[in-house]
Amino acid sequence: MDKLAIVVPCYNEEEVLHIAADALRGVLEDLIAKQKVAQDSFILFVNDGSKDKTWELIEEEHAAHPTQIRGVKLAGNVGHQFALTAGLLTAKDRSDVTISIDADLQDDVAVIEEMIDKYHAGNDIVYGVRSDRSSDSFFKRFTAQSFYKLMAVMGVKTVYNHADFRLMSRRAVEQFSQYGETNLFLRGMIPLIGYQTDSVYYERKERVAGESKYPLKKMVALAFNGITSFSIKPISLITWLGSLIIVGSVLAAIYALASYFTGNVVPGWTSLILSIWFIGGVQLLAIGLVGQYIGKIYVEVKHRPRYNIEKVLE
Ligand code: UDP
Ligand code: MG
Repeated sequence: MDKLAIVVPCYNEEEVLHIAADALRGVLEDLIAKQKVAQDSFILFVNDGSKDKTWELIEEEHAAHPTQIRGVKLAGNVGHQFALTAGLLTAKDRSDVTISIDADLQDDVAVIEEMIDKYHAGNDIVYGVRSDRSSDSFFKRFTAQSFYKLMAVMGVKTVYNHADFRLMSRRAVEQFSQYGETNLFLRGMIPLIGYQTDSVYYERKERVAGESKYPLKKMVALAFNGITSFSIKPISLITWLGSLIIVGSVLAAIYALASYFTGNVVPGWTSLILSIWFIGGVQLLAIGLVGQYIGKIYVEVKHRPRYNIEKVLE
């Protein structure tokens, strides 16, 4: 029987901690009773340097349910993506399969069973996908969906409407741990792993209590980090723009020379306007070119694994 670890990053979640612990324990006990996961499966709360009583509450829960509830205390606040990674890598050596979920129960715990079923059907990664975001404010919905679209345009492969509610088998987490990069954007990294994957769908609910720990500033930072950690397209765009302007300078030259020969221009205008166009284009192209090398260096220093062998037949 496979041992499940449910990983829950928590930052200032004192209002929801007991509610989350009870709900997740309910799910876990149900799965154990149905013999879908091992007896010693557990929930791992990661305290991401909370300033409130979150850690004390995790300790209380652990005292009341020592096998089912465990905790990791990070030394300070490192942010959701790092806290989640800390939880996954801690759970990796203590379980066979992990599920990550937010503490606020916005993601439907009822589909966890479906995730486990899909895992037993041979999937290494199962994404939780929001089929409905009507409980989110218009603003949150609009910014989030623009973000997914922008990512796609920039060539970053992500799963549309999927956040960090997902199941990962032990070997998927193992492979994930090979990605040595410091700028973490899990939604972009997990699809790079490969393996057989599937999705489950659910309606996103409102937070059970407390407020969002992702204000606009953090959302923008996440989006920016997502793009710049995965794509060197912005640099290519500069190169293209430079080339385009050099081509434009030829058209500008034709126009300027025609104006010069028809006679009605101020002396000096022709040479000035030509230099502006041409030099502008050359400068952008040069910046873009230097950028391309920096882009290559950047990709190299990530030291990402170049492939992941799933199976060898011999
Ligand atoms: N979180 C965290 N560290 C942070 C910010 C958030 O561990 O610095 C956790 C938070 O406790 C929650 C999850 O990340 O479990 C998602 O945060 P939240 O629900 O506030 O984001 P939203 O759903 O509003 O985007
Ligand atoms: Mg939330």
